[in-house]
Amino acid sequence: MGARILVVEDEEALTTLLRYNLEADGYDVETAARGDDADTRMKERLPDLVVLDWMLPGLSGIELCRRLRARPDTKQLPIIMLTARGEESERVRGLATGADDYIVKPFSVPELLARVKGLLRRAAPERLATVLSYGDLELDRDKRRVARSGRPIDLGPTEYRLLEFFLEHPGRVFSREQLLDGVWGRDIYIDERTVDVHIGRLRKLLNPGREQDPIRTVRGAGYALDDRFAKVEGSPS
Ligand code: CA
Repeated sequence: MGARILVVEDEEALTTLLRYNLEADGYDVETAARGDDADTRMKERLPDLVVLDWMLPGLSGIELCRRLRARPDTKQLPIIMLTARGEESERVRGLATGADDYIVKPFSVPELLARVKGLLRRAAPERLATVLSYGDLELDRDKRRVARSGRPIDLGPTEYRLLEFFLEHPGRVFSREQLLDGVWGRDIYIDERTVDVHIGRLRKLLNPGREQDPIRTVRGAGYALDDRFAKVEGSPS
């Protein structure tokens, strides 16, 4: 599953070129030709990164960027701004508005791909990793395999997703509600006690001998991966 990229650009030829090359690099690509359409789209579903043209019909790239930075859920969203040569003096304004990076047209496609990759890696290093590990735990996303100390562990789909979610955010404590949002998704109503049930199952499967529980219960707060456990096993920091 590749990162999702929204390309907001009104030059059709450029949109086609970007879509073709980004898809060839394994990304899921969506496109919008108007700033206001992109704004609406992102209120429904957020991409992992936005390639945003400066001059757009409906709503300018600069205004859209400003709006995205003002919303809590898109405050950190990686944005690469495209500007035409001659607008270059304006690029300071572009960055001041909150774009993470900018590229001046005409640009080389490999250059843009490199910037996209770099920005995604900076924004969410764990999200792109194929193998997530913590202590002696290892989760391979390509093979959908989990192992502890090299010993394979069979997890059900929900337990798998729970563990993946924890491994994507090592050290963070999640409330039941946050786990429901992150693992089950916001749109489904599920009782918070369901989280406890699946955490219990995950614990049992990961730790059959009960010698070392990789999941920590944080009283009154929720659950987290146990950082003591990671240190004991000497995981790479
Ligand atoms: Ca344009």
